[in-house]
Amino acid sequence: MRQPLVVGNWKMNGRLGEAEELARAIAGAEVDWEHVSSGICPPFPLIDRVASAVQDSPVGWGAQNLHQEDSGAFTGEVAGPLLKDLGCTYVIVGHSERRDLFGESNELVAEKFFAAKRNGLIPILCVGETEAERDAGKAGEVVREQVQAVLGDGKEDVFRDAVIAYEPVWAIGTGRTATPEQAQEMHALIRGLIKEAYPITGQSLKILYGGSMKAASAPELMAQEDIDGGLIGGASLKADEFIGILRAAV
Ligand code: PEP
Repeated sequence: MRQPLVVGNWKMNGRLGEAEELARAIAGAEVDWEHVSSGICPPFPLIDRVASAVQDSPVGWGAQNLHQEDSGAFTGEVAGPLLKDLGCTYVIVGHSERRDLFGESNELVAEKFFAAKRNGLIPILCVGETEAERDAGKAGEVVREQVQAVLGDGKEDVFRDAVIAYEPVWAIGTGRTATPEQAQEMHALIRGLIKEAYPITGQSLKILYGGSMKAASAPELMAQEDIDGGLIGGASLKADEFIGILRAAV
C-alpha cells in the first residue's frame, strides 16, 4: 500500500504574515493524517517560517529547487546541506517552469536529483510533456526520456526514497486538468519503467499528479490505480482547496 502524499508548491508567492497563516491553517486542519502525508514547499526565505508554523504537526516542508553542488561561488543559489539544516524533507527538481524558463536540461535535473539524495532529501522529480509534444503523439517518449535521464544505466536503485510527479505542462496553471484516464496512462508508463529495473521500488514509488488539481477534481484523479497524491500549485495557496485535496487523498 502506498500512502498518498500531497505537496504544495507555492512557487514565487507568499509574504511573511500570510505564509505563516496559511501554513498554520493546513497544519491544524481536520484531516485523516494517519493515512495521508503532506508537505509545503514555499520560496526559500519562507522555509524557516513555515517550518516553525507546522512543527509538531504531521505536515513537512521542503524547497522548490536546489543547486547541484553542495557549496561554492554560485551567487543567488541554495545548496542541499542548508536545506537539510532547515529541516526540509522534500525538494522539487525539474519543475517545468525551471526546465522552460531557466533552461534546465534533463542532465542538470539529474544532477540536482542526486544532490538532493546525497543530502538526505527526498527529491520530487517533475516530468511531463508540452501540449505540442502530446499532439504529436510524443508524450510517452518525452516522459520516458526525462525519467531515463535519472535512471541512467539502471545499475543503481535511484528511485528508492524519491518521488516522481507527472505534470503535463499544458495543465500547469492553466485550469485544464488532465483527465483521470490520461493521467493514469502516464503514471502507469512511469511505474512500468521503474519496475522494469527495480520491481520493488517501482511498486512502492509514489507518483503524484500535478496540473490544475483542485479539491473538486482530486477525488477522481486520486482514485486511479497509479496516482498516489498530488503536487499542487495554485490550489495550495488557498487553505480550503488544499485541505479539500488532502481529504480527497484518503
Ligand atoms: C505546479 O506548479 O506544480 C502545479 C501543479 O501548478 P498548478 O496546480 O497551479 O497547475
